[in-house]
Parts: sequence; C-alpha cells; structure tokens
Amino acid sequence: MTVSPFRYPSTPHQRRHGPIGYSAYQQFRPWLRDEFCFRCVYCLRREVWAFQDSDFELDHDVAKSLAPDLCREYTNLVYACHNCNKRKSNKRLPSPSEVGYGACMEVSISGSNAGEIQGLNDDGLRLIDELSLDGPKITAARKTYIGITRSLEQHDQPLYMVWMGFPDELPDLCNVSPQPKSNSLPQGIEQSWLARKLRDELPAIYE
Ligand SMILES: [Zn+2]
Repeated sequence: MTVSPFRYPSTPHQRRHGPIGYSAYQQFRPWLRDEFCFRCVYCLRREVWAFQDSDFELDHDVAKSLAPDLCREYTNLVYACHNCNKRKSNKRLPSPSEVGYGACMEVSISGSNAGEIQGLNDDGLRLIDELSLDGPKITAARKTYIGITRSLEQHDQPLYMVWMGFPDELPDLCNVSPQPKSNSLPQGIEQSWLARKLRDELPAIYE
C-alpha cells in the first residue's frame, strides 16, 4: 500500500499512557505528544513539518466550559494543531477514542483530486464540516504535501525519512519534569517512542 501522510487510524485510539495528578493540564504535553505520534489528531499535520512547538496545543475532547471537572483528566486531552484546536473551540465532536477516524474520513492521495477529503459516514461529515478540513487552503496544502512525499520517496530517501519519520527529540517519559503523581498505565512507558528508539525498534517512518 502506498504510504500516505494523511491516512487516519482505522480504529479508535487506545491510550498507552495514564499519567494522573498534574496541577495544570499543560503538564501532560510530553505524554500527549508521544500518545498521538507528534501530529494533530484532527488534520494529521506533523511536528516535523512545523516551524514552532507552539503550532501544537492540548485540546480538551469535552471542552473545559462543558466539563470543568475533566480539565486535568488525561483521557480527555488530545494533541492538536493550533488551527484545529481553535476551530473545534467548545464543540463536542466524535472523539478519536470512540471512533476510528479512518472509518469516518479519507484523503485522496492520487489523481486530480489528490488532497481532497471525503466523509465516509455522518461522524466524518461532521468532523470535516466543523473543523473545515475541506477548505480550499488545507486541501491545496495536503495536495502539495502528498506531492512532496512522493517526490522525496523516489528521489531523496534520507529527507523522506525526516519528512515521514519521528522528531529527533522524543520525550523521555521516565524523566519528565514534573513527574505525575501516579500513572495508571506504567507499562506504557516501555512502549514510548524513545524507549523503542533506545531498543533500535523505532520505525524509520510512520503513517
Ligand atoms: Zn490540525
């Protein structure tokens, strides 16, 4: 199957980490970066394509205004780009933990409609509409990124690995500061991307 930079996961996201007890929700950032593979859960834009760390934010699945008690609950947080977080605002959308986004929406990666996104069911249509994932600018950008990906894959393998690979700096979840008060899924750290890298198990690229 052709590698796509815009293929959504086919199954609902299952949490690997379970940090508990931070006083501010921003402190979950390294866990969420690792959890969601260093990209926006909604549009799949990657950290390695961004200029600034601040392009990525922590989004509350159920908004703070709707559920203040879930504000510092890890399972209510996802990793999202600034643009998607802003567009989502306090809307309640199908959660990536409840539905596989790949079953909801699909981005064409070839032909004249490369970059276009299609809803595959009502959840997908809603996500696309509310997050404006089918706007002309994002559609054109996806087409360009797909073209870059194809070109690098064929002509520049080292840069292709950078473009579709992991960031150089991976969070060390054993030594994040501050440490969470507890962790309901401590075994997840062994499956963190840094732990895999140290075991020489990190894939060169990922979808
Ligand atoms: Zn996004």
